[in-house]
Amino acid sequence: MSRRLEILEEMGLAPVWRLRKSRPGVSAKAAETPGSREEQIARMEWAELKSAVAGCTACGLRAGCKQTVFGVGDESANWLLVGEAPGAEEDRLGEPFVGQAGKLLDNMLASLGLQRDKNVYIANVLKCRPPGNRNPEPSEVATCSPYLERQIELIRPKLIVAMGRFAVQTLLNTDATIGSLRGKVHAYHGVPLVVTYHPAYLLRNLPDKAKAWADLVFARETIASG
Ligand code: URA
Repeated sequence: MSRRLEILEEMGLAPVWRLRKSRPGVSAKAAETPGSREEQIARMEWAELKSAVAGCTACGLRAGCKQTVFGVGDESANWLLVGEAPGAEEDRLGEPFVGQAGKLLDNMLASLGLQRDKNVYIANVLKCRPPGNRNPEPSEVATCSPYLERQIELIRPKLIVAMGRFAVQTLLNTDATIGSLRGKVHAYHGVPLVVTYHPAYLLRNLPDKAKAWADLVFARETIASG
């Protein structure tokens, strides 16, 4: 024990302070802030949210990917499109939907007169690439989804398009099939939500492209009527 501590102890003043134990996956700043990790994320503004995602190690995925993929687009967009998780190209470039599935998505958006950075925001349920593009684990979705929830609160979109099983399950908390949920307006915390197939699925199932196109037209009608 140091002489200073000895003196303080004799005076009844030690220990004066202690370093907080670090919490796994939580930044030093967050560890100083009150509330659970979810509560802290729910209060973050854009800059803090972006750096929290960039520094996140709350699940095991970050160790196996090149970088986090936050989301892209207009931060006050009417349209929010939600996919599953970054793939190899997204992991390399740090942007969602930049591989083959992304090209299809961009083409579908262009047919509606939309672009990924104008009145559209694109995000994924997971911000890190699962190894070998495996399906997200429920624990990974649970750990990462507070970030998506906060993105949705900050964007306040007029409509969410949930693309594929994992976006639908996460946002609607259901195990129902995409087929049974298409063509209806659902809601995520009061925001209208429509369901469609994931663009990567469409690349493997070309006949369902027409259905996805119908879903986007339905989404446009939903926004227009809102
Ligand atoms: N698939 C997704 O769900 N998201 C991406 O960003 C790319 C492919």
